[in-house]
Amino acid sequence: TSSTPTHFIKNIIDEDNRSRKWNGRVETRFPPEPNGYLHIGHAKSICLNFGLAIEYDGVCHLRFDDTNPEKEAQEYVEAIMESIRWLGFDWGEHLYHASDYFDKLYEFAEYLIQQGKAYVESLPSEEIRRLRGTLTEPGINSPYRGRSVTENIDLFQRMRAGEFPDGAHVLRAKIDMASPNINLRDPVIYRIRHVHHQRTGNRWCIYPMYDFTHCISDALERITHSLCTLEFEDHRPLYDWVLDQLTDKVPCHPQQIEFARLNLTYSIMSKRKMIDLVENGLVSGWDDPRMNTLAGLRRRGYTPSAIRLFAERIGISKADSWIDMTLLEDCLREDLNERALRRVAILDPVRLVIDNFPEILEESCRAPNHPQKPELGERTLFLTKELYIEREDFMEIPSKGFFRLTPGKEVRLRYGYIIKCTDVVHNEKGEIKSIHCVYDPNTKSGTTGADSRKVKGNIHWLSAKHAHPVQIRLYDRLFSDPHPDTEQKDYKKTLNPYSKQIITGFVEPALLDTLPEQCFQFERNGYFVADRIESTPGKPIFNRAVSLRNTWAK
Ligand code: ATP
Ligand code: MG
Ligand code: MG
Repeated sequence: TSSTPTHFIKNIIDEDNRSRKWNGRVETRFPPEPNGYLHIGHAKSICLNFGLAIEYDGVCHLRFDDTNPEKEAQEYVEAIMESIRWLGFDWGEHLYHASDYFDKLYEFAEYLIQQGKAYVESLPSEEIRRLRGTLTEPGINSPYRGRSVTENIDLFQRMRAGEFPDGAHVLRAKIDMASPNINLRDPVIYRIRHVHHQRTGNRWCIYPMYDFTHCISDALERITHSLCTLEFEDHRPLYDWVLDQLTDKVPCHPQQIEFARLNLTYSIMSKRKMIDLVENGLVSGWDDPRMNTLAGLRRRGYTPSAIRLFAERIGISKADSWIDMTLLEDCLREDLNERALRRVAILDPVRLVIDNFPEILEESCRAPNHPQKPELGERTLFLTKELYIEREDFMEIPSKGFFRLTPGKEVRLRYGYIIKCTDVVHNEKGEIKSIHCVYDPNTKSGTTGADSRKVKGNIHWLSAKHAHPVQIRLYDRLFSDPHPDTEQKDYKKTLNPYSKQIITGFVEPALLDTLPEQCFQFERNGYFVADRIESTPGKPIFNRAVSLRNTWAK
């Protein structure tokens, strides 16, 4: 019985279980290349692979696909593991590296040569590409295609021994230069790279290519269902060809299944371009709260459950499509609406004086921590003569439909009294310096008669005496274009100039002891998190995770 919505991959697994194809075994893997941080697209794959393992009582491997040493780094390995754990998944003892198989992969490559299924190619790479042909033209056999097994073994061993410079030779699978599928036109399976590898050091100067490595790694680990994105559909015949050659050498032949990758509006998903943003200082780092990396989303205030909910909502299909950023943001709103405690913050303060309120009085107002969850308790807000309210909650000359504070009109101070605006004081520049009002002592929230008069506006406030100034970062979408990364556009020119605004706001006393990563709803303002790196108890710094409502109309 399944707990999450069904989809075509679950149908395949159910059918395999019925036919006993894998004897009921379900073994998946998540295979990141440690060449960058994980992003929200990876989260889709993580939730799918680890989720299936949980649901079918199987296992999911974490395998680092580390065959491109010049682009890979230990920093990325650690960030990837941290993000997966943070999302709530665990690979247990199933941690693997493609580089663990370098000896085996080399042995299998020699075996292919011996079987007449691979040869050493000595043409330069542009020539190899040219002879490969196009979609409409078949490829042309290389003059080296006919090399003898002995010559191929000798050259391949000398490639391994380091006798040749980068690019001098490659090893190619010998399949079919006329195949309509270009991936089968004698793909390169090994190349010479004299570079240090973060795990195998200088032991190798030849490295296997993805298409050769991936299927063999899956087979050696006895993966049952190898899930990848649609771009690899055309590679599946090669995946199967390699394993068909090695039937006697590997324990099983996993099934490659393709699903649609996540495309999210207002974001980029290419690690190369994300590296660019980081290296050009357009963001503060991989974990900049505006980045759609898991580290960035975490710092922004996204919760693991919001991201898992998102992965469930978008589902798994075989057709590419675009997902609207609003869907991701709504998942966070939904999750935080449930769990975040309510607090008051004034982001853009203006002074409000209650003229008839006693100077020395500090009146306790009880405010629930969560309006739908009385079990989460209450806190006290002190009402005093001088308050801060949001500048936008007052309009000297109200526009039509404005029901908040305006001269001569009444509003309720949340958890407090009904007040009536009596006067506005300006400074020399004509800006509002303070607003004056009177309160009606018979209208305190929660007392009988409080509702005797109906007022439309209900605004939040803080006692000027009790409010604490804190740094608040108002984050918004990094890009202002729904499709920042198309061939016609330079994504660096579609950056949203208002994606980060640093302000000093005021918060209620209860927020002073906030722990890093605690999330709150700032009433009427949005969801905010204490920055996990720079915030400290006593001196909190808040990031806006998401506003209360979508302000990005389609
Ligand atoms: P890039 O091309 O930017 O380097 P990648 O997709 O090659 O990214 P990998 O580290 O190889 O990055 O990805 C690991 C796994 O995550 C792969 O199995 C891949 O299919 C999956 N994945 C990556 N991007 C997405 C996406 N946008 N949607 C769903 N799955 C994804
Ligand atoms: Mg890639
Ligand atoms: Mg990849």
